[in-house]
Amino acid sequence: MDFTGKTAIVTGGSRGIGRAICLELARGGANIVLCCAGDPAAAETTRAACEAAGGRALATRCDVADAAQVKALVDTAMQEFGRVDILVNNAGITRDSLLLTMKEADFDSVISTNLKGTFLCMKAVTRQMVKQRYGRIVNLSSVVGLRGNAGQVNYAASKAGVVGMTKSLAKELAGRNVTVNAVAPGFINTDMTAAIPEAAKSAALASIPAGRLGSAEEVSKAVAFLASDSAAYITGQVLAVDGGMAM
Ligand code: NAP
Repeated sequence: MDFTGKTAIVTGGSRGIGRAICLELARGGANIVLCCAGDPAAAETTRAACEAAGGRALATRCDVADAAQVKALVDTAMQEFGRVDILVNNAGITRDSLLLTMKEADFDSVISTNLKGTFLCMKAVTRQMVKQRYGRIVNLSSVVGLRGNAGQVNYAASKAGVVGMTKSLAKELAGRNVTVNAVAPGFINTDMTAAIPEAAKSAALASIPAGRLGSAEEVSKAVAFLASDSAAYITGQVLAVDGGMAM
């Protein structure tokens, strides 16, 4: 896919699915602005890999739950590249436990990063995308937001909320050549799923018709398609990349 001359902001681009998305867009020639809230060394590794793949890339520190930091992220992209064509809201966290033992703080932090963070980033780029009469927003939801999952009331609420926000903003921006879609990964091999106990992993695996976990690269291909010119007439959709799990 050709992203020559396009600028993409990818949140949580330092590792996992976000890193694969950065690399996929960079291979297509996009300028990448990636961020994470924690490990700057991991962000730098992605940045260097994007430049090796052919794009220009910047790595910044930004907590997506903080409006001032999100504004600074978008300002950086504008100062460096003069436009923002693609926003991928990929940053996400889990704080799993059954409802009876779930701490209020764990509910709040998951909602702040996954749901409010997506809201803040969309809000920060929308004016520019409308002005450009061009934009592609791709939000990372999850199979858990579509089906629910024991132990993930907070995460499921955040990812179902992402679907609602995606469809609502798609309706607001469709007439301005700005599309808003979501990708809902199933069980993908990253740090996030590495933390899941083996018994829970085996149970999840049994519910995947494809019979295997997905890779970050497989998710990145779907994100890149929705971020491309080829997807100009697709908006408000949720594309499951899950080996058939959510059927
Ligand atoms: P991951 O390996 O844990 O990576 C998460 C990324 O988000 C990291 O770069 C992390 O960097 C960043 N991040 C976390 N909190 C942040 C914050 N407040 N501000 C900015 N960046 C932040 O996760 P992943 O598996 O690649 O998941 C990526 C996305 O796909 C998430 O939205 C996740 O919910 C979704 N998803 C994943 C799966 C799966 O099976 N892996 C399935 C469905 C959906 P720092 O920690 O350094 O900040």
